Amino acid sequence: MKYIDEYRNPRLARTLLEAIRRRVSRPWTIMEICGGQTHSIIRNGIDQLLPDTIELVHGPGCPVCVTPLESIERALLLASKKEVIFTSFGDMLRVPGSSRDLFMVRSEGGDVRVVFSPLDALQIARDNPSREVVFFAVGFETTAPANAMAVHQAAREGIGNFSILVSQVMVPPAMRAILRMPANRVQGFLAAGHVCAVMGYEQYLPLSAEFHVPIVPTGFEPVDLLAGILKTVELLEDSQPEVVNSYGRVVSREGNLAARGTIDKVFEVVDRQWRGVGLIPESGLGLRSEYAGFDAEKRFHLSHMSTEESPLCMSGSILQGVMKPDGCPAFGAECTPQHPLGATMVSSEGACAAYYNYHRNL
Ligand code: SF4
Repeated sequence: MKYIDEYRNPRLARTLLEAIRRRVSRPWTIMEICGGQTHSIIRNGIDQLLPDTIELVHGPGCPVCVTPLESIERALLLASKKEVIFTSFGDMLRVPGSSRDLFMVRSEGGDVRVVFSPLDALQIARDNPSREVVFFAVGFETTAPANAMAVHQAAREGIGNFSILVSQVMVPPAMRAILRMPANRVQGFLAAGHVCAVMGYEQYLPLSAEFHVPIVPTGFEPVDLLAGILKTVELLEDSQPEVVNSYGRVVSREGNLAARGTIDKVFEVVDRQWRGVGLIPESGLGLRSEYAGFDAEKRFHLSHMSTEESPLCMSGSILQGVMKPDGCPAFGAECTPQHPLGATMVSSEGACAAYYNYHRNL
């Protein structure tokens, strides 16, 4: 199949691995930001095939993992309300709150519905004018355009029973926070190709210049990932801390200007909490005042929620590349996909789930 098979070609992968082996002369630590890339790396055994001198650490780019516990508690509260139809992507339903998840709320009678798009949620609002329909708007820059479009459309049509619970985050501020950590070991980044498809790679230029770190937008197939790693190693070996696009078939310098325009119209930059990580300044998107009527937090007067994270869960260290999942004492013991203690074990993009499902050292 054109455009997929060639990026899974074992011969090309071996050639790239050989090129990486020839080029590397000293240890390097590289972070892949995106949980989708983490899964592809572990599933395809790329971490095992690389020279020992290259360590891949896993980043915070899993939307389910970083949605703060307080937002999960708000979702649980809203989903429990009789008048509310709570809509969400399916992977949020098993994310543990302090003591329960959305599946449990549904089993207790809450009207929790899985949708594939916020526009589906908007249609549910049109079809149920006597109910309040809330969409759980989580994710990175990739989900922001559709979420913004749903709100914009609701405003245009005057749909008064639709709102979104916003937990929208952005990648570059998280990279900045990681680079500023005293414990940081990351020397180069693979940037997430789908985020760059929306936002372009120009957003990384100031970050690369300030911290003297190479950043390489990279895709998700094995050949994409190996090409991205090779480019990052070349930049590191040559002391060239630059942004170089390794995913040219999808990513441009400026990204998708129409999508960026839609995001800017509806959202503004705000501080956001990241689960396990804490507050990262200017790392999120919140609804602009013109759209405040569609903000579920305001509509339902949700104030501070008390939360309690499992004391055993080390996901904050894992999301910041300080620890690997199998370094967590609870990994595979108290914490499994059937009985997760943290979101990184639940999510289809979570690093703990990737290690549990695919890692050959288990
Ligand atoms: S293995 Fe479980 S407890 Fe440990 S960091 Fe991952 S999700 Fe948290």
